Amino acid sequence: MFVIGTAGHVDHGKSLLVEALTGIDPDRLREEKARGMTIDLGFAWLTLPSGRSVSIVDVPGHERFIKNMLAGAGGVDLALLVVAADDGVMPQTREHLAILDLLGVSRGVVALTKRDLVDADWLALIEADVAETLRGTTLEGSPIVACSPVTREGLDALLRALDAAIDGLPPKRDIGRPRLPIDRVFTIDGFGTVVTGTLIDGGLALGDEIEAMPGGLRGRIRGLQSHRDKVERALPGTRTAVNIAGIERDALRRGMVLATPGQVRPTDVIDVRLRAVEALPHALRHNMHVTFHCGADEANGQLRLLDTDGLRSGGEAWAQIKLDTAVAAMRGDRFVLRTPNDTVAGGVIVDAAPKRHRRHHAPTLDALAALLSDAPEDVLLDAITRAPMIERAALERLVTMPLGQLAAALDGLIDANSVRSFGSGAAARLAAAAFAEDVHRRGLDALSAYHGEHPLRTGAPVEELRSRLKIDAVALALLLETWSDARTSGTTVALASFVPAPSPEQQRVIDAYLAALRASPESPPVTAIDAELLAHLALSGMVIDTGDGIVFDAAAFASMRDRVRSHIEQHGSITLAQTRDLLGSTRRYAQSLLEHLDRLRVTRRVGEERVLR
Ligand code: GDP
Repeated sequence: MFVIGTAGHVDHGKSLLVEALTGIDPDRLREEKARGMTIDLGFAWLTLPSGRSVSIVDVPGHERFIKNMLAGAGGVDLALLVVAADDGVMPQTREHLAILDLLGVSRGVVALTKRDLVDADWLALIEADVAETLRGTTLEGSPIVACSPVTREGLDALLRALDAAIDGLPPKRDIGRPRLPIDRVFTIDGFGTVVTGTLIDGGLALGDEIEAMPGGLRGRIRGLQSHRDKVERALPGTRTAVNIAGIERDALRRGMVLATPGQVRPTDVIDVRLRAVEALPHALRHNMHVTFHCGADEANGQLRLLDTDGLRSGGEAWAQIKLDTAVAAMRGDRFVLRTPNDTVAGGVIVDAAPKRHRRHHAPTLDALAALLSDAPEDVLLDAITRAPMIERAALERLVTMPLGQLAAALDGLIDANSVRSFGSGAAARLAAAAFAEDVHRRGLDALSAYHGEHPLRTGAPVEELRSRLKIDAVALALLLETWSDARTSGTTVALASFVPAPSPEQQRVIDAYLAALRASPESPPVTAIDAELLAHLALSGMVIDTGDGIVFDAAAFASMRDRVRSHIEQHGSITLAQTRDLLGSTRRYAQSLLEHLDRLRVTRRVGEERVLR
């Protein structure tokens, strides 16, 4: 379905025309009735001669309510520019036209209304003036239909012209990521919160979980209506009313966006391709304050011109806009900039989550141009490079791209070895090949340094490597699986080629220690030695650590064990005193030896004696 948006100067007859075409009076507010003027957005719908239904958003024409006009112009597919034949082109005719142009609304029909008030000569003059005014805008060449809701002259021709213009529109984009920029919030007794807006980028269905951004409040769709009819599912391009369970009316406002949870991220800084309007009163300056209008939202902000110091009428530039409050805008969205009294520029968001940029910085400008070029590969590679090891599901949320196109572009990048994929499914992680290689190289360096510092340890704790590489645990685990030159066992990781061995310094300590043990095999000296060295000696079978402070040389221990064993074989048992005498050592050494033999299940204690097991 498509949305027609009215445009035009105040009092030129927009509301009356909409009412004549649809039978619906779009002026809802009591104040609008009292003042005879449209203040806020009005909504109506009709069935065109072709049988297709369309929605109509009627906007206010008074310059004081231009922000309401902007809130309604966001989702418009086709402009119905209304010009009163008696008045002709007026300031807000031009301003609305400039806004439609900046928003990229490229189809339209001009209703030259109040036909009944002018003669044919005057009409021809005004018609020529309107055609001239459209020149150079997206609406250049649009059909101009003279009409009057009072006499109903020309209304059929107008409907046919609208039908024909819609025939040429591409189908509404459906990328499976529904967004509803909210333009009205109200409550209905017995139903609760209702919001309305023009649904874009995907469908919504009853029961869907939704999120209101900025803010992130979650709720569920309890009811859906389009043109006052209950529907189970609303499609992109439809004026939609959503009855939400779980979010209070007061928590919502115009400008917020209702979307599938996780799809939309609020941002307060955006990179844009900017174009100044033709009728710019003053050049745009770096750091000037502007009001940013996008979707149904607006925010104050500061304009940072990135490749120029000033922008004149019709000029284009790269810019970054720093907003005072976050908006739920996305890459690819169109926007308009205003100063208090004028619409000054507009364009397209090329990055909705940028860093602060240096000005006049060629690589930044090149990167922005690549983003604007819209090649899906460029967009993906940029997103993946900025968020290394991003989950595929998160990438799908981050970039605004149909999922099929995303999958194809990603496959292309992987085939070209620009991107690597780790793991599988939606939890798979993606990284630029350059990043993966860099982490691999730094990981090997870190392991090699660790082995150098701890030559006797079998490996480095994975956690220590993780914190050095500054990546998350899941990402490291996935990367480690692909490192053929490293091995992981349990919670440690080592270079595949690494064999624990003492350093020359450690070897000198070991040699001296062993020499001391061997110099007095049965009653070796109790010398302090580094626990790691001792563990290494015990593990490699060079010493026997009894655990009670006494360490025997392994060969000496074996010989004592054999002597104790043969004593028992000959005499049936051995006592502590006998052991001491047999070995010519002291009670303490004999006790330590016997207890260790018990532990090794060579001997067993029976009263004061040991027997063989
Ligand atoms: P809007 O501000 O553009 O919505 O204009 P309105 O629809 O409120 O119309 C402004 C005034 O012009 C109203 O008094 C209408 O009755 C009057 N009007 C609108 N269209 C016509 C028309 O075709 N012929 C005549 N004679 N008056 C019209």
